[in-house]
Amino acid sequence: MGCGTSKVLPEPPKDVQLDLVKKVEPYTGHKTDVYKHFIKDDGVGTLKTGSPLPPYHIQPYPGTHLASHMEPHEPRRTRVAKYRAKFDPRVTAKYDIKALIGRGSFSRVVRVEHKATKQPYAIKMIETKYREGREVCESELCVLRRVRHTNIIQLIEVFETQERVYMVMELATGGELFDRIIAKGSFTERDATRVLQMVLDGVKYLHTLGITHRDLKPENLLYYHPGTDSKIMITDFGLASARKKGDDCLMKTTCGTPEYIAPEILVRKPYTNSVDMWALGVISYILLSGTMPFEDDNRSRLYRQILKGKYSYSGEPWPSVSNLAKDFIDRLLTVDPGARMTALQALKHPWVVSMAASSSMKNLHRSISQNLLKRASSRCQSTKSAQSTRSSRSTKSNKSRRVRERELRELNLRYQQQYNG
Ligand code: ADP
Ligand code: MG
Repeated sequence: MGCGTSKVLPEPPKDVQLDLVKKVEPYTGHKTDVYKHFIKDDGVGTLKTGSPLPPYHIQPYPGTHLASHMEPHEPRRTRVAKYRAKFDPRVTAKYDIKALIGRGSFSRVVRVEHKATKQPYAIKMIETKYREGREVCESELCVLRRVRHTNIIQLIEVFETQERVYMVMELATGGELFDRIIAKGSFTERDATRVLQMVLDGVKYLHTLGITHRDLKPENLLYYHPGTDSKIMITDFGLASARKKGDDCLMKTTCGTPEYIAPEILVRKPYTNSVDMWALGVISYILLSGTMPFEDDNRSRLYRQILKGKYSYSGEPWPSVSNLAKDFIDRLLTVDPGARMTALQALKHPWVVSMAASSSMKNLHRSISQNLLKRASSRCQSTKSAQSTRSSRSTKSNKSRRVRERELRELNLRYQQQYNG
């Protein structure tokens, strides 16, 4: 959650038994934000397409073109041309490049159209010149090649060149999870269980295959289409780990996004796929409140909160949230990974099974969206003040914030018109 993402090397808490976090040595040979894929973080600086809040980068409609925060001074045509030029002729022979819809440290995601069938797809183009890019790409391909599930983005085909890999994938046009919640106008516990059921189905499937996603968070959960009945899909397998034959299913690499990292990763214990379940606990907490269970601008304090499993249910809308929902969260945000629910257990939890029958009608939307927007705006304010010494960047940031706020208002309006009559 936040309005920006920048690469930050993890700074472990000083008074906790540390050596908690593996230090990723900076690679100085180029300027890409290579660390993002090891430890991702909210922060000042580059706006990231994948940031979950608010819908600054929303591309919920197939007709939507290049995100306005992306180098907004450049005319759209120039930007499209720039990205087209990066495509291998084999790709452009088959696909029309339509629009840039996302970007990460080594990757750009574009919307394309298959020339023969006119079918839209997404192409994730990953730079593999550098070791980190190659590693991310390998993990992602290794997983995507193995999976086929309705709640997981499907890989269609792959083109490889010396410097880049192009992954043609199903296109999700419904926007990210929280963008949709804000835009929707109402949100109940029943809606939350629907979302979680779909994500849990996908995660259960991955875990059955010995795959751990390791970066589950709202930005990596995309709606397939803008309709209210859209399914949700898990994306971004750049940090995923696939168990090989004979492996003991224990992982050691420290990676993830700070707010979603499980305690056992922070203490550098060998860990299992239950780290995904912790992340789902964090997502469930945000889903029901619009706030983060663990949050602190200071990384050490944040990690301390996580290590203690210290979070609270104070403030709106928690008094309106059922005890069963809180029990669901508590069983995921359990510090002991052995005592944490598995995906199968979570799917069988009475809150999910009953689809929040006892409290399904209470509309939590107002508090949730207010919290989401409040947080996003305060994040952007701090981004702004952190940038105040760099006046030109600050002006750019204010401008893109205004653009994004306008986008949010427009999106709200469109959803209301389309779905609320
Ligand atoms: P990163 O590893 O850089 O986070 P992602 O795979 O998450 O890369 O892609 C970045 C962003 O691009 C996503 O947050 C999403 O907004 C957009 N995106 C990625 N894949 C798709 C897809 N298949 N359909 C639509 N948008 C996508
Ligand atoms: Mg992502």
